[in-house]
Amino acid sequence: MEFFDPSELWNRCLQEAENRLESTEFESWLKNSLYEDINGTRLVIRFRNSFVAGHVKSRFGDMLESIIRNISGRSDLALQFVGNPAEPGPSTTVSLPLGSSHSASDYTFLRSNYTFEHFVVGPSNQLAHAGALAVSRDIGSTNYNPLFIYGGVGLGKTHLIQAIAHHLRQESSKRTFRYISTELLVETFIKSVLQNDYTTFRKLFHGIDYFLMDDIQFLKGKVETQEAFFHRFNELTQQGKQIVLTSDRPPHELPGLPERLISRFQSGLVADIKPPEYETRLAILQLLVRDEELEVSLDVLDFIASSIRKNVRQLSGVIHRLAAMSRLTGCKVDMNLAQKEISSSLGTITRRLTPGNITSIVAESFDISPSQLKGKQRKRNILVPRQVAMSLMRELTTMSLMDIGSFFSGRDHSTVLNSIERIKELKKNDPELDRKIDEVKRKLISI
Ligand code: ADP
Ligand code: MG
Repeated sequence: MEFFDPSELWNRCLQEAENRLESTEFESWLKNSLYEDINGTRLVIRFRNSFVAGHVKSRFGDMLESIIRNISGRSDLALQFVGNPAEPGPSTTVSLPLGSSHSASDYTFLRSNYTFEHFVVGPSNQLAHAGALAVSRDIGSTNYNPLFIYGGVGLGKTHLIQAIAHHLRQESSKRTFRYISTELLVETFIKSVLQNDYTTFRKLFHGIDYFLMDDIQFLKGKVETQEAFFHRFNELTQQGKQIVLTSDRPPHELPGLPERLISRFQSGLVADIKPPEYETRLAILQLLVRDEELEVSLDVLDFIASSIRKNVRQLSGVIHRLAAMSRLTGCKVDMNLAQKEISSSLGTITRRLTPGNITSIVAESFDISPSQLKGKQRKRNILVPRQVAMSLMRELTTMSLMDIGSFFSGRDHSTVLNSIERIKELKKNDPELDRKIDEVKRKLISI
């Protein structure tokens, strides 16, 4: 390669490293690294402190250098790992890339394949996709401000919000953006409070055309950050700046957020992403195998698309692992291998859906205690959640009616059956309850 963008090169290196390493390893050591500079033929990569930098050098240094050389085709490139002098100590988290809002360091947070080109559109995500595309083409189309995208875990929210950032970054009109996770916003705010200096916090919102913030549900309980954010939010919208937010639930279900903030969130376009339909899942699988340059027959893809229904991240996890296995062992990805992989990955999901987990999440959602839920009281506000829990156990676990009955203080199987029938009826006639049950299910599926 004659010419390369070193920041992009580091992004691609990270992507490859993520495929090779255990995800916990990648998340702990590499994920928050930042490309800083190029020094001759040496790329300087910054980590949150020198301990992390030293560890990465000794554990992964050789591997990362060989990836960089492979991707760039230049054998003279080397890597230098440095800590962040401003934030010593292992307890600090990623430092905030400030300076110009459109600076290269912002891009390090962007995953290079989270683009519109790599996003498969289907009925489940059509509205969110259309909204994202519209705001990235046209600033200040006030109807869509803010654009609020919500949906369960692993359904493409981060992908879409980053696609907007990629789009802005690539085009020539020089519109600037800030992309930030809500966690980082909260962290920055807390630091500002501690240091009694709000410059860094304010800079987050300054001089930008787009403010993109992922996972707004993490504002829960952060009252002071909410307050500060509320003011910045109003300022930005008054100035005609575009705001895009993502969340794991719709605005009115965000717990512990003040009403005025919620109504602001609702004032633009609220778009949900649902679990993808079969055709969309199949199309996503086809895209993933093409990226991995993997040969997989259609009936194997059909099998995977039929087995994993709820979560796109799981689909890509399966393909990454199959690709890794096939690269390591040289074997073909056939039905046999796919079945093994699916049963082990589904196994880990069903293991987490225990009656205990279901009970505590249902109890929490209906604001009663787990022991009330399992007990004998027949007041409606306790009886209905109990029946909900029973029907969810039936739906989401392999427990028999008898198993479920005995879990609920020794009730018999006909009680369980009646409860399930009752909930079916109620769901038809009570949209509020129907919605609530879906919400509980979303929570359960994502644990
Ligand atoms: P979320 O933020 O909603 O939890 P992500 O955006 O991280 O989910 O998506 C999880 C994974 O699934 C990512 O690898 C993403 O690229 C992929 N993905 C999700 N939806 C799609 C889609 N419609 N087309 C292609 N890939 C998708
Ligand atoms: Mg996300």
